[in-house]
Amino acid sequence: MALSHFAFAAGVILLGASVWLLVPALLAAIYLAWRNTVAMEHLTDATEAIAQGDFERRVPEQHTPGVKRLADAVNLMARTSIRRVSMLTADRNRLATIFAGMVEGVVDVDEKQNIIHINDAAALLLGLVRENSIGKPVWQVIRNQKITLDIDDAIRNRTVIKARVDYPRVSERLVFDIYVASLSDDQGGPIGAVLVLHDVTELKHLERIRTDFVANASHELKTPITAIRGLAETMVGDPDVEKSMLMQYMERIHSQSLRLSNLVTDLMTISRLESDQGTSSFTRMNFNDLVRREVRAAASAVEIKLHSLTLDPFPEPLEVYGDRQNLSQLCNNLIDNAIKYTPEGGQIKVRVRRDQADVVLEVEDNGIGISPQYQERVFERFYRVDKARSQSLGGTGLGLSIVRNIAERHYGSVGVTSQLGKGTTFTFRMPLAEPLLQSEVSEQP
Ligand code: ADP
Repeated sequence: MALSHFAFAAGVILLGASVWLLVPALLAAIYLAWRNTVAMEHLTDATEAIAQGDFERRVPEQHTPGVKRLADAVNLMARTSIRRVSMLTADRNRLATIFAGMVEGVVDVDEKQNIIHINDAAALLLGLVRENSIGKPVWQVIRNQKITLDIDDAIRNRTVIKARVDYPRVSERLVFDIYVASLSDDQGGPIGAVLVLHDVTELKHLERIRTDFVANASHELKTPITAIRGLAETMVGDPDVEKSMLMQYMERIHSQSLRLSNLVTDLMTISRLESDQGTSSFTRMNFNDLVRREVRAAASAVEIKLHSLTLDPFPEPLEVYGDRQNLSQLCNNLIDNAIKYTPEGGQIKVRVRRDQADVVLEVEDNGIGISPQYQERVFERFYRVDKARSQSLGGTGLGLSIVRNIAERHYGSVGVTSQLGKGTTFTFRMPLAEPLLQSEVSEQP
């Protein structure tokens, strides 16, 4: 009986002790569970916010060891993401600036050929409004079959296409060199294409001028050569030809060889002018003196044609900065033309004057004149109003084109006013040299 009482008492004590121990443990467990839940909620909220792009968001400081590590990792991820995003933004801005500043047109399309990006140069070249083009299919915006087919081809065949394309616009016809490259993602899947447009209209035009020039020059050279050859062959084939005929042949050979020589000299001048674009040969000189020398040099030609040639120089020295040989040639070509295209006994007046910051040279004659429709054309290479007359006077058709070239090289211009049958005035102007500083004056020899 006593034993059973004892066992009962011990049981009660043990139960009481267990309850005392269990209740705080249970409370502690509930508290820990609640703290973890709150921490996990913070973590989930912050992670979701970061995933949606709020990289400034941070998980509040955590003290539970496991959760603290996780929270620190999420915060570190947010900080790293900020750095990555700002690097990507900087790269994107740099690319956008490069695109915007490019002379080449750039059009970026997705795999469905809708325009994603188009830079200002492309919009200008293609004659489009940039903002209206974004998001539209390329074929709807760029109305050029060759370009759209090439883009299609590049995307379909994952390739690069280079081509030259004619692009007619309202009032002009442009020529583009195009380059289309397909774009792929990391896995090599197609994501669109980029089109680069390079405007080569001017280049093509220059190529054309050059080809025409070579063709014209060859033709001009061939004519006197054929004439000389024909005359020489006739003389060789007929040794008994009359002396008077022989003299005629010789004279024609002489005049054709002179023409050939003039042509070669002019062609060499053009080639020198084109290759020597710098100002290394420029010096300061008094324009009055230069013109005076050229007027004097023309004396014998003037005498032969019984012309009167007068010079009206500017009363003070007029300093210009230029290539002496070029400017002499310009002056000589204008005076020479006045002599050539004025019938015997004509009047040629050469004037040098100052017009504000420019020096002006006028060469006036009372010769055959040029009708208005030809006045601009006489500056073109090989253009002659009357080819036979020019050739009989030893002309090449290059003199005035050389004059214009030299004028432009000296930041100047040349123009003509003329009345058919009354006479012509050619006017050349170029800027006066900048006045020398005092220190430079004392250095002058
Ligand atoms: P050319 O060697 O034939 O003289 P230029 O280039 O010097 O070549 O001149 C081109 C053309 O312009 C000449 O063939 C001529 O028809 C015309 N021309 C040039 N100067 C005069 C002038 N002073 N009076 C009339 N026509 C001129």
